Amino acid sequence: MEGPQGASSAADGVDDRRHIVISTVTAAVLHTVGEPLEFEAIAIDHPGAFEVLVRVERVGLCHSDLHYIRGLLDIGTPAILGHEVAGIVETVGAGVTRMNVGDRVVATVTPACGMCRQCLRGRPTQCQRVDLVRLRPRPKHHRMDGSVVGALGGLGAFAQAILVTESSLAVVDKTVPPEVACLFGCCVSTGVGAVVHGAAVRPHDTVAVIGCGGVGIAAIQGARLAGARRIIAIDSEPRKLVVAKRFGATDAVLAGKSPEAAVSAVHQIESGGVDHAIEAVGRTETAELAFGCLAPAGAATILGLMPTGSSLRIPAEDLVYGDRTVRGAYMGANRFLSDVAMFTDHYRGGRLDLDAMVTRVIDFADINDGFAAMSDPDNVRTVVNMTGGV
Ligand SMILES: [Zn+2]
Ligand SMILES: [Zn+2]
Repeated sequence: MEGPQGASSAADGVDDRRHIVISTVTAAVLHTVGEPLEFEAIAIDHPGAFEVLVRVERVGLCHSDLHYIRGLLDIGTPAILGHEVAGIVETVGAGVTRMNVGDRVVATVTPACGMCRQCLRGRPTQCQRVDLVRLRPRPKHHRMDGSVVGALGGLGAFAQAILVTESSLAVVDKTVPPEVACLFGCCVSTGVGAVVHGAAVRPHDTVAVIGCGGVGIAAIQGARLAGARRIIAIDSEPRKLVVAKRFGATDAVLAGKSPEAAVSAVHQIESGGVDHAIEAVGRTETAELAFGCLAPAGAATILGLMPTGSSLRIPAEDLVYGDRTVRGAYMGANRFLSDVAMFTDHYRGGRLDLDAMVTRVIDFADINDGFAAMSDPDNVRTVVNMTGGV
C-alpha cells in the first residue's frame, strides 16, 4: 500500500492526478463542541484506488450527530459530521467495479473487507480490517489554510460531496427518492437490521421497542415486517407513541415516572414479559429497562450509542436463572450491501413506509435549525437537501 512518501511525490512535482485536489465544497464543520456547525469551504482530495467521489443529494439528521455536537460522544475537531447520506457518483478511482458515474448510492459508516473472519461469518459491521479498508495515504479533507479536517465514520456527509471507499457504498435504484434512500444508511439499516439480523424476530414473538425516534420507528416497522404478533412502543413523549402506532405498534407504554413503572406496564400488556426488547435511545437507564421487560429466554438488543465510559447494571439472577440475553447490535448488525436491496423491495412493495418517516426536508443553510428542531415529538427524521446553495 502506498505510504506517506507517495504524498510527498506530488509536492515534488510528479504529475499524478491522484494527488491533485479537484473539489472545493461547502461543508458544515464542527469546530467547538456545544456550538453550532460553521459553514466553510473545504478541499476534497481526488479519488484514489477503490475510492469514489459522491455528490451529496440528501443527508439525514441523526441523534448520533447531535451527541457529537453536544459532546456526549467523542470526536476530534474540526470535523465534518453527517453519516446518513444518499448521492450521485461523480468520479471513480482506479479499481472501482461496482458502480458507475451517475449512479445513485447510499453510504454506511461500516465498510467491510469481505475477507476477514467476521465478514466471512456474516458480520460485516464487525469487520476486523475496517481501519485498513478506510486507510489512505493522506487526509481527505483540508481547510483553505491547509489544515486537516476529520470526517465522522470516514464519511463527513454534511458537505456537498464525500470521498469514500467503494466498500462504504451501495447502489440504490433511482426509483427510490434520495430523501428516502439516505435513511438506508443509518436509521433503517440500524432499526430494521436489528430486528432481522440482531434479534431475528419471528411471527410468534412479542417485541418491545424503547425510543420512538427514527431508529425506533424503523425497528417497529422491522418487527411488523418480521411478523411479530405484538409490538409494544415505549417512549416518554405521548405524541411519539401516537406516531409509533401509525407505523405498526400494537400497544404503547408511556415511560414516565420510573423505569419500574414502564417495566410493570409491559408485563401487564404481555404477561411474563416480551421475547425481544430493542433499545433505540442510547441511555443506560433505557438499556436496563429493556432487560427488565424480558420474559424468560428473552433477549435485549441494544442499539443506542451511550456516552463514553457507560456501564450497565443487570440483575445477575434474572440473567442466569431466566436464560436471558443482552446483546449489542452496532448499526443493527446490518449487512449493508444486501440489505439495501431488501429495503428497496419492501419499500416499493409498500411494506416499509419510509416516505412517512421523512417528516421534514430542510435546506443545507438551515442545518443548525434542523438540529434544534429534533426534539419536536412529531419529528421522525429531518432530511437536509444538499443540492441548493448555503
Ligand atoms: Zn445515525
Ligand atoms: Zn472484514
